Amino acid sequence: MSAVHPLAALARAVVRSPALLRVRPSVSAFLVGYLRKFPAIEVGGRVVLHSHLPALDSPAYARFVRLHLVDRVAAPSHAQIAVTNACPQRCPVCYNRDRAGTPLTPAELRSAIDQLVSCGVVWLGLTGGEPLLRRDLTDLVAIGRGRAALKLFTTGMGATPTLAAELRDAGLSSVSVSIDHWDEETNDRGRGLAGAWRAAVDAAETFLAAGGLHVGISAVLPRDQMRGVPEIERLLSFAGSLGVHELWLSEVKPTVASLWHEDAIVTDTERRAVAAFQDGWNGRTSAERRGVTLNYLGHFEGAEHFGCNAGQKMVYVDAFGNVSPCVFTPVSFGNLRDQPIAAILASMRNRFPTESCCFINRNWGLVAEVSQGALPLGRDQTLALLERVRFGPLSAFNRRYFGRQH
Ligand code: SF4
Repeated sequence: MSAVHPLAALARAVVRSPALLRVRPSVSAFLVGYLRKFPAIEVGGRVVLHSHLPALDSPAYARFVRLHLVDRVAAPSHAQIAVTNACPQRCPVCYNRDRAGTPLTPAELRSAIDQLVSCGVVWLGLTGGEPLLRRDLTDLVAIGRGRAALKLFTTGMGATPTLAAELRDAGLSSVSVSIDHWDEETNDRGRGLAGAWRAAVDAAETFLAAGGLHVGISAVLPRDQMRGVPEIERLLSFAGSLGVHELWLSEVKPTVASLWHEDAIVTDTERRAVAAFQDGWNGRTSAERRGVTLNYLGHFEGAEHFGCNAGQKMVYVDAFGNVSPCVFTPVSFGNLRDQPIAAILASMRNRFPTESCCFINRNWGLVAEVSQGALPLGRDQTLALLERVRFGPLSAFNRRYFGRQH
């Protein structure tokens, strides 16, 4: 890993994507300002800001610029797909906990990935369950190769040097290994499995040793830990000791019924405090950061940056084929077995305008009211719920992108 000067990062992005010069100036200026909030690094010969964006000089980024910034296609740029719901761990905060059904067949899964990428997705997260349980994971990754940045979300269980190299060669760009706590016992208690921490630490080392992969750890923290900067600093220091590139961080979201409590929800003031801490952290020298970038979801999706794009530029397909606005929103616009995914996406996009605040943090109470136990909500329940939702103003990026406030 080596640092890349911001101007060099920009130059490499423009050389790879000359269409950047045709992007609306206010949007370009915003993106340059955003870029400067992250230490650009070179991984596998590409310039990476963080794992939620394609590398700036990659074909996927060039596609993002052409499709989403210049042609402005009505399609998602980001998607996640659960390639299985099976998992050896039992996290109470897992967003798939309440989802059930008939798993997609391998052919259906391949088709879903291809359809998502073909319609405009340039960043695809492969999640679960535990994706490494699938023997055909390398084949699934290869479907998006050269068109999308492919990120693996994993507990790390099942990682081997051979598999890591195969996934990299198939086109995987980044890996996020779940570790919620630096303390082994605390982590394993939270994840419902002794040995979870050890497997994750070993996996991070395995993926790093493979070379050419952007490797991070991901932590999902309860509200009380999100309020304590020392907790986050401790996690960052732990990430530094592992030698990973990134700590991806999110607060626990009210996605499943057991998390529907007002006092569990991070407030916008608390979110802003973590986002501000991130800017300070990422502005430090590489030595001070021990090479670790902080990538807080609430920073990327905050009002000051890209906002909540659930159902608009972000979508989620669960392991059973239900299409949701994002992994954390337990509502559904239909199942891809019943209609082409493009039709489901269009219907979702029409009813899910992007806004500045996290949809589920604001509307979980409505979901709780409409839900009769089963999640995700079906299409009719979802439409009924949306009749009662008042969407807020656009994020800073989308005000420039759409040229309006709402
Ligand atoms: S609902 Fe929340 S978690 Fe989902 S895309 Fe919006 S901001 Fe992100």
